[in-house]
Amino acid sequence: MGRYPRQARNARIKCVECNAPVVETTGERYVCINCGESPIAVRSS
Ligand SMILES: [Zn+2]
Repeated sequence: MGRYPRQARNARIKCVECNAPVVETTGERYVCINCGESPIAVRSS
């Protein structure tokens, strides 16, 4: 598609709903680029 923010490519967080990359927005919120939801699974290695 190419509409995704470049930031999304480096996302280390995946949406639990659709497994799409989640990007950090202003205000320290994380939003899925696909569905716009914010329930996320933070991968803590
Ligand atoms: Zn999603």
